[in-house]
Amino acid sequence: MGEVCVRVAVRIRPLLPKEVLHNHQVCVRVVPDSAQVMLGSDRTFSFDHAFGPTASQDQFYESCVKPLVASLVDGYNATVFAYGQTGSGKTYTLGGGHVASLVEEESGIIGQAAADLFVLLGERRAADVRSAADVRVSYVELYREELRDLLELHTAHRELHIREDDRGNTVVVGARETVITSAEELQSVLEAGNALRHTGPTQMNERSSRSHAIVTVQLTQHNHDDGSVRSSKLHLVDLAGSERAARTGNTGLRLKESVHINTGLLALGNVIRALSDPHRRGNHVPYRDAKITRLLRDSLGGSAHTLMVACVSPSHHNVTETLSVLQFASRARHVKNQPGLCPA
Ligand code: ADP
Repeated sequence: MGEVCVRVAVRIRPLLPKEVLHNHQVCVRVVPDSAQVMLGSDRTFSFDHAFGPTASQDQFYESCVKPLVASLVDGYNATVFAYGQTGSGKTYTLGGGHVASLVEEESGIIGQAAADLFVLLGERRAADVRSAADVRVSYVELYREELRDLLELHTAHRELHIREDDRGNTVVVGARETVITSAEELQSVLEAGNALRHTGPTQMNERSSRSHAIVTVQLTQHNHDDGSVRSSKLHLVDLAGSERAARTGNTGLRLKESVHINTGLLALGNVIRALSDPHRRGNHVPYRDAKITRLLRDSLGGSAHTLMVACVSPSHHNVTETLSVLQFASRARHVKNQPGLCPA
């Protein structure tokens, strides 16, 4: 297995108008001209990138995600996942949820990645008219360890299964894949999926913060000279809120949900940590501990590129959760990236 490429970015959202109104104090800041974040007055955490409340969607995309789209076109798998408590900016940053804007500079990671992907594919085709590519998208939700299709109304109530093919690729059996030819098409496919997520036959409403939503962009490139086919994929994952059962005082169904959420997030943390361990050679990577890590298996580790986006609220009301998110994110970042293997 090659050296893994895990990068960690932290993004601090602005105080929301109602937080300003209620006099919330800012408890976390980016240390100027650094990729460090300071919590309170004395705890500092280092990351690969750190963005404060004034950073634009564009700045975030250009520095963190654009290189992954280029590596997708070069044939590598990649995963971007957003981690953080509910309300910390995961959906805003990804731009796959209620933020339906495709206005360039406001669009989140998903819209910008799709726009870039089609530009890069257009350039390839201009350089070699015999090259051809198709882009397909799937959109699934993982809720209480059950996987559902968000693109197919009549299968949304049916559980999907994860399988590995003989080349080690992860396949979600039966998930609908929709061919897209532009970023706008992707946006409308995702909007249809979001509508199903909130109103579907299995009462998927009101649970988006407790489920993981996974958009997968599958790229297949054909080389007509030698007949070869190259496949690669990009997962964009809006993880369930990281807040813990204890703090929210959950019972019954909510407690069960929290157990599943914690299992998934813990497993993801363990996999990232195992992959990031510089001494890991031959170490066991516990992919099988949860569905989220099984699903992402072929796009975490190996030659795949991974970006973890840790989203935090600046408000002192959220300081405990922010601390735990920053600790989780810095544990994920053990290793120095290997020059030449990671996108710049
Ligand atoms: P989550 O997906 O983590 O639950 P959201 O993405 O829904 O959180 O964000 C919560 C609120 O904060 C939304 O109203 C969103 O528009 C706003 N928000 C989040 N991040 C930013 C940002 N970087 N700039 C401006 N508003 C933001």
